[in-house]
Amino acid sequence: MISETQILKSLKEIIDDELGNYKNKRSITVVNRIPDTTKIPIEKPNYWLKIPDVICVFVDMINSTLLSANKHDNSTAGIYRLFTSTAVRIFDEFESPYIDVKGDGIFALFNSDQAHRVLAAAVTFKTFIEEEFTPRIKKEIDFTIGAHIGIDQKTVLVRKLGLKRYEGRTDRQNEVWAGKPVNMAAKLSSLTNAGELLVSDRYFDNFSSELVLKSCGCGSDGKKIDLWNEIDLSEEDKFDFDKAYLLKTRWCSIHGKEYCEKIIELDD
Ligand SMILES: [Zn+2]
Repeated sequence: MISETQILKSLKEIIDDELGNYKNKRSITVVNRIPDTTKIPIEKPNYWLKIPDVICVFVDMINSTLLSANKHDNSTAGIYRLFTSTAVRIFDEFESPYIDVKGDGIFALFNSDQAHRVLAAAVTFKTFIEEEFTPRIKKEIDFTIGAHIGIDQKTVLVRKLGLKRYEGRTDRQNEVWAGKPVNMAAKLSSLTNAGELLVSDRYFDNFSSELVLKSCGCGSDGKKIDLWNEIDLSEEDKFDFDKAYLLKTRWCSIHGKEYCEKIIELDD
């Protein structure tokens, strides 16, 4: 227990106030879809929303530690902009209901009936990285910068936490998505090398169509080959599932657009 003479009075009051909130029971309301961000609660201290089966795609830069704000300020600034803005705009175009930027990572959340759309978004971003982003930076400053990409799906709790308003600013609060998918998508992504997308088995279970599971046949004598490799994670204790699936391909330069459109339609 913190004593009266241990810390400043005003700070003890903050801690006591939050301990008081913690003692009260939480009220949790189940909703089926990710709400509009303005409708995510902040007012009542113990009120949360619970949303089942939310899908999270997480991306961040591989080798961003090579970039320096000191030595290469101009290219570093340009690279962050190109990576982050393109990711956010692609996920927005694929109708993600919630997107956030965390450091040099970006995560986008989707509802459970958007599973194929999420894959189309991730493969589109992957294609951008491999066809445009990485080669351009390699040519300009000779660094190989790629993207980690991971996807998971499970129940989340959400509300806004932080200071409601601070001199008109809202930067001291944010939506908190408690639960597995954001964490697990980030951890899956951290296992990937450049050119790889790793997804949990519980997200992969959405897929049954050949459009998602097999190639278009280009580059393999017209044969439609399996696109996904099963990865055993049973030895990794940071995951709450034992299997993941790895995809290395990007959109085919001949059939990509057509496949993207057909894959999105599978959500209907
Ligand atoms: Zn093709």
